[in-house]
Amino acid sequence: MSRTIFAKIIDREVPASIVYEDDLCVAFHDVAPRAPMHILVIPKKPIAKVADATADDQAILGHLLLKAAQIARDQGYGEAFRLVINNGEAAGQSVFHLHVHVLGGRPFTWPPG
Ligand code: AMP
Repeated sequence: MSRTIFAKIIDREVPASIVYEDDLCVAFHDVAPRAPMHILVIPKKPIAKVADATADDQAILGHLLLKAAQIARDQGYGEAFRLVINNGEAAGQSVFHLHVHVLGGRPFTWPPG
């Protein structure tokens, strides 16, 4: 599998506005924000989509959600934010490296589009 743009961000081959990093994940501002806060939290492990994760990835998946909530709080949007994971092209996924969208700062409708 060829390396995605997110793998290149992890390796600092492509610049990004990184807001958080630890041994398991990186978080950075989305280049085309859909809300006043729009941050992507990605695992360093190159899992293409959430449906490809296995039981071995349980700790990583939990970590992504905990960090997403922490980042929303740190950015001042802890009271109300939306997490989105698109899985598959028909669901809107365009980069095939698992990522959690962390969105906040505007009202969100339901159901999502
Ligand atoms: P998705 O459509 O769920 O796969 O989301 C991919 C997201 O990655 C989109 O919101 C894009 O705007 C964002 N994106 C693509 N390339 C970059 C990049 N180089 N830096 C930051 N965000 C990016």
